Amino acid sequence: MGCNIAIDGPAGAGKSTIAKKVAGELSFIYVDTGAMYRAMALFLLNRKVDCSNEEEIGEVCTQADISIEYRDGEQIVLLNGENVNAHLRSEEVGRMASVSSANPRVREHLLMLQRGLAQSHDVVMDGRDIGTVILPRAEVKIYLTASADTRAKRRYLELSEKGLVCDFEEIRKDIVERDERDMNREVSPLKQAEDAVLVDSSELSIDAVVAEILRIYHEKVEC
Ligand code: C5P
Repeated sequence: MGCNIAIDGPAGAGKSTIAKKVAGELSFIYVDTGAMYRAMALFLLNRKVDCSNEEEIGEVCTQADISIEYRDGEQIVLLNGENVNAHLRSEEVGRMASVSSANPRVREHLLMLQRGLAQSHDVVMDGRDIGTVILPRAEVKIYLTASADTRAKRRYLELSEKGLVCDFEEIRKDIVERDERDMNREVSPLKQAEDAVLVDSSELSIDAVVAEILRIYHEKVEC
Protein backbone atom coordinates (compact mmCIF):
# COMPACT_ATOMS: atom_id res chain seq x y z
CA MET A 1 0.00 0.00 0.00
CA GLY A 2 1.39 3.40 -0.96
CA CYS A 3 1.33 6.51 1.18
CA ASN A 4 -1.75 8.49 0.19
CA ILE A 5 -2.48 12.21 0.30
CA ALA A 6 -6.07 13.07 -0.68
CA ILE A 7 -6.94 16.60 -1.79
CA ASP A 8 -10.60 17.39 -2.41
CA GLY A 9 -12.34 20.65 -3.11
CA PRO A 10 -14.47 22.64 -5.55
CA ALA A 11 -13.55 23.61 -9.12
CA GLY A 12 -10.88 26.30 -9.35
CA ALA A 13 -9.54 26.05 -5.78
CA GLY A 14 -6.07 25.33 -7.17
CA LYS A 15 -6.07 21.61 -6.44
CA SER A 16 -4.20 20.41 -9.51
CA THR A 17 -1.43 23.05 -9.40
CA ILE A 18 -0.92 22.49 -5.68
CA ALA A 19 -1.22 18.70 -5.74
CA LYS A 20 1.33 18.52 -8.55
CA LYS A 21 3.82 20.63 -6.56
CA VAL A 22 3.30 18.66 -3.36
CA ALA A 23 3.83 15.42 -5.31
CA GLY A 24 7.03 16.85 -6.83
CA GLU A 25 8.39 17.83 -3.39
CA LEU A 26 7.75 14.35 -1.97
CA SER A 27 8.60 12.36 -5.13
CA PHE A 28 5.05 10.92 -5.11
CA ILE A 29 3.01 10.54 -8.28
CA TYR A 30 0.21 13.01 -8.91
CA VAL A 31 -3.16 11.52 -9.83
CA ASP A 32 -5.62 13.99 -11.37
CA THR A 33 -8.97 12.19 -11.11
CA GLY A 34 -10.79 15.15 -12.70
CA ALA A 35 -8.88 14.35 -15.91
CA MET A 36 -10.33 10.82 -15.83
CA TYR A 37 -13.88 12.21 -15.52
CA ARG A 38 -13.05 14.65 -18.31
CA ALA A 39 -11.82 11.79 -20.54
CA MET A 40 -15.10 10.00 -19.91
CA ALA A 41 -17.00 13.20 -20.77
CA LEU A 42 -14.99 13.55 -23.99
CA PHE A 43 -15.92 9.99 -24.92
CA LEU A 44 -19.61 10.68 -24.27
CA LEU A 45 -19.49 13.95 -26.25
CA ASN A 46 -17.78 12.20 -29.18
CA ARG A 47 -20.49 9.57 -29.07
CA LYS A 48 -23.09 12.36 -29.04
CA VAL A 49 -24.70 10.98 -25.91
CA ASP A 50 -27.53 13.15 -24.60
CA CYS A 51 -26.24 14.52 -21.29
CA SER A 52 -29.72 14.40 -19.75
CA ASN A 53 -30.13 10.70 -20.53
CA GLU A 54 -28.74 8.93 -17.46
CA GLU A 55 -29.51 5.46 -18.75
CA GLU A 56 -27.65 6.06 -22.01
CA ILE A 57 -24.65 7.55 -20.15
CA GLY A 58 -24.58 4.51 -17.87
CA GLU A 59 -24.62 2.12 -20.83
CA VAL A 60 -22.14 3.88 -23.12
CA CYS A 61 -19.58 4.58 -20.36
CA THR A 62 -18.67 0.89 -20.11
CA GLN A 63 -17.19 1.11 -23.63
CA ALA A 64 -14.61 3.68 -22.54
CA ASP A 65 -11.29 2.17 -21.56
CA ILE A 66 -9.52 4.87 -19.55
CA SER A 67 -6.00 4.34 -18.29
CA ILE A 68 -3.14 6.44 -17.00
CA GLU A 69 0.53 6.50 -17.86
CA TYR A 70 3.35 8.68 -16.58
CA ARG A 71 5.84 10.19 -19.00
CA ASP A 72 8.56 12.40 -17.49
CA GLY A 73 6.38 12.77 -14.40
CA GLU A 74 3.40 14.00 -16.40
CA GLN A 75 0.07 12.16 -16.23
CA ILE A 76 -1.08 11.00 -19.64
CA VAL A 77 -4.74 9.97 -19.92
CA LEU A 78 -5.37 7.28 -22.50
CA LEU A 79 -8.89 6.89 -23.84
CA ASN A 80 -9.20 3.60 -25.70
CA GLY A 81 -5.42 3.72 -26.17
CA GLU A 82 -5.21 7.32 -27.43
CA ASN A 83 -3.52 10.17 -25.53
CA VAL A 84 -6.34 12.70 -25.02
CA ASN A 85 -4.60 15.19 -22.70
CA ALA A 86 -4.83 17.98 -25.28
CA HIS A 87 -8.64 17.71 -25.41
CA LEU A 88 -9.55 17.65 -21.74
CA ARG A 89 -9.44 21.26 -20.58
CA SER A 90 -12.23 22.90 -22.61
CA GLU A 91 -15.26 24.39 -20.84
CA GLU A 92 -17.54 22.05 -22.83
CA VAL A 93 -15.72 18.96 -21.57
CA GLY A 94 -15.64 20.35 -17.99
CA ARG A 95 -19.37 20.97 -18.05
CA MET A 96 -20.15 17.50 -19.42
CA ALA A 97 -17.80 15.97 -16.81
CA SER A 98 -19.69 17.70 -14.04
CA VAL A 99 -22.98 16.21 -15.35
CA SER A 100 -21.79 12.70 -16.27
CA SER A 101 -19.76 12.27 -13.06
CA ALA A 102 -23.05 12.20 -11.12
CA ASN A 103 -23.84 8.87 -12.82
CA PRO A 104 -23.14 5.91 -10.47
CA ARG A 105 -21.94 3.68 -13.33
CA VAL A 106 -19.45 6.29 -14.46
CA ARG A 107 -18.09 6.55 -10.90
CA GLU A 108 -17.97 2.79 -10.44
CA HIS A 109 -16.03 2.50 -13.70
CA LEU A 110 -13.30 4.88 -12.48
CA LEU A 111 -13.15 3.82 -8.82
CA MET A 112 -11.04 0.70 -9.35
CA LEU A 113 -8.55 2.56 -11.52
CA GLN A 114 -8.09 5.25 -8.85
CA ARG A 115 -7.79 2.79 -5.94
CA GLY A 116 -5.37 0.63 -7.93
CA LEU A 117 -3.02 3.57 -8.49
CA ALA A 118 -3.09 4.49 -4.79
CA GLN A 119 -2.38 0.91 -3.78
CA SER A 120 0.70 0.50 -5.90
CA HIS A 121 2.22 4.00 -5.56
CA ASP A 122 2.76 6.85 -3.13
CA VAL A 123 0.22 9.32 -4.48
CA VAL A 124 -1.15 12.79 -4.14
CA MET A 125 -4.65 12.33 -5.59
CA ASP A 126 -7.04 15.20 -6.15
CA GLY A 127 -10.76 15.20 -6.88
CA ARG A 128 -14.11 15.51 -5.13
CA ASP A 129 -14.55 12.23 -3.21
CA ILE A 130 -11.00 11.05 -2.63
CA GLY A 131 -10.94 11.49 1.16
CA THR A 132 -14.57 10.43 1.61
CA VAL A 133 -15.02 7.47 -0.79
CA ILE A 134 -11.96 6.48 -2.83
CA LEU A 135 -9.25 6.55 -0.15
CA PRO A 136 -11.04 6.73 3.21
CA ARG A 137 -7.84 5.61 4.94
CA ALA A 138 -5.52 8.13 3.29
CA GLU A 139 -2.77 9.22 5.68
CA VAL A 140 -3.39 12.90 4.94
CA LYS A 141 -6.67 14.49 3.83
CA ILE A 142 -6.96 18.10 2.75
CA TYR A 143 -10.14 19.97 1.82
CA LEU A 144 -8.89 22.84 -0.34
CA THR A 145 -11.30 25.64 -1.05
CA ALA A 146 -11.51 29.35 -1.95
CA SER A 147 -14.35 31.83 -2.38
CA ALA A 148 -16.34 31.66 -5.65
CA ASP A 149 -15.09 35.18 -6.53
CA THR A 150 -11.44 34.21 -6.08
CA ARG A 151 -11.89 31.04 -8.10
CA ALA A 152 -13.66 32.89 -10.92
CA LYS A 153 -10.93 35.58 -10.97
CA ARG A 154 -8.20 32.93 -11.24
CA ARG A 155 -10.01 31.16 -14.08
CA TYR A 156 -10.60 34.49 -15.85
CA LEU A 157 -6.89 35.40 -15.64
CA GLU A 158 -5.84 31.92 -16.79
CA LEU A 159 -8.07 32.13 -19.90
CA SER A 160 -7.14 35.78 -20.64
CA GLU A 161 -3.45 34.92 -20.44
CA LYS A 162 -4.04 32.27 -23.08
CA GLY A 163 -5.53 35.05 -25.25
CA LEU A 164 -9.07 33.67 -24.99
CA VAL A 165 -12.00 36.08 -24.89
CA CYS A 166 -14.07 35.42 -21.77
CA ASP A 167 -16.69 36.97 -19.58
CA PHE A 168 -16.12 37.15 -15.81
CA GLU A 169 -19.81 36.85 -14.88
CA GLU A 170 -20.25 33.82 -17.16
CA ILE A 171 -17.25 32.11 -15.55
CA ARG A 172 -18.49 32.89 -12.05
CA LYS A 173 -21.96 31.55 -12.88
CA ASP A 174 -20.46 28.37 -14.32
CA ILE A 175 -18.37 27.83 -11.18
CA VAL A 176 -21.37 28.31 -8.87
CA GLU A 177 -23.45 25.89 -10.99
CA ARG A 178 -20.69 23.28 -10.91
CA ASP A 179 -20.41 23.63 -7.11
CA GLU A 180 -24.17 23.09 -6.87
CA ARG A 181 -24.04 19.93 -8.98
CA ASP A 182 -20.90 18.51 -7.34
CA MET A 183 -22.12 19.16 -3.78
CA ASN A 184 -25.72 18.07 -4.18
CA ARG A 185 -25.55 14.91 -6.25
CA GLU A 186 -26.66 11.66 -4.66
CA VAL A 187 -23.53 9.62 -5.33
CA SER A 188 -20.23 10.77 -3.83
CA PRO A 189 -21.10 14.45 -3.37
CA LEU A 190 -18.28 16.88 -2.77
CA LYS A 191 -17.92 17.39 0.97
CA GLN A 192 -15.18 17.71 3.53
CA ALA A 193 -14.25 14.36 5.11
CA GLU A 194 -14.55 14.46 8.90
CA ASP A 195 -10.84 13.93 9.32
CA ALA A 196 -9.76 16.32 6.53
CA VAL A 197 -7.91 19.56 7.27
CA LEU A 198 -9.60 22.62 5.77
CA VAL A 199 -7.26 24.92 3.81
CA ASP A 200 -8.73 28.13 2.34
CA SER A 201 -6.51 29.38 -0.47
CA SER A 202 -8.41 32.68 -1.06
CA GLU A 203 -5.73 34.80 0.60
CA LEU A 204 -2.75 32.48 0.12
CA SER A 205 -0.17 32.15 -2.64
CA ILE A 206 0.35 28.77 -4.29
CA ASP A 207 3.67 28.32 -2.50
CA ALA A 208 2.09 29.14 0.86
CA VAL A 209 -0.59 26.47 0.33
CA VAL A 210 2.04 23.91 -0.75
CA ALA A 211 4.11 24.72 2.37
CA GLU A 212 1.04 24.33 4.58
CA ILE A 213 0.18 20.91 3.10
CA LEU A 214 3.79 19.73 3.46
CA ARG A 215 3.75 20.92 7.09
CA ILE A 216 0.53 18.93 7.74
CA TYR A 217 2.06 15.88 6.04
CA HIS A 218 5.27 16.01 8.09
CA GLU A 219 3.27 16.55 11.28
CA LYS A 220 1.01 13.56 10.60
CA VAL A 221 3.28 11.01 8.96
CA GLU A 222 6.52 9.94 7.56
CA CYS A 223 5.24 7.07 5.45
O1 C5P B 1 -11.39 18.85 -11.26
P1 C5P B 1 -11.98 19.00 -12.62
O2 C5P B 1 -12.61 20.34 -12.86
O3 C5P B 1 -11.03 18.63 -13.72
O4 C5P B 1 -13.16 17.92 -12.68
C1 C5P B 1 -14.13 17.92 -13.69
C2 C5P B 1 -15.44 17.41 -13.11
O5 C5P B 1 -15.30 16.02 -12.80
C3 C5P B 1 -15.87 18.09 -11.81
O6 C5P B 1 -16.74 19.18 -11.99
C4 C5P B 1 -16.59 16.98 -11.05
O7 C5P B 1 -17.96 17.00 -11.34
C5 C5P B 1 -16.02 15.71 -11.60
N1 C5P B 1 -15.15 15.02 -10.66
C6 C5P B 1 -15.74 14.19 -9.75
N2 C5P B 1 -14.98 13.45 -8.90
C7 C5P B 1 -13.65 13.55 -8.91
C8 C5P B 1 -13.01 14.44 -9.80
C9 C5P B 1 -13.80 15.18 -10.66
O8 C5P B 1 -16.96 14.07 -9.71
N3 C5P B 1 -12.93 12.79 -8.08
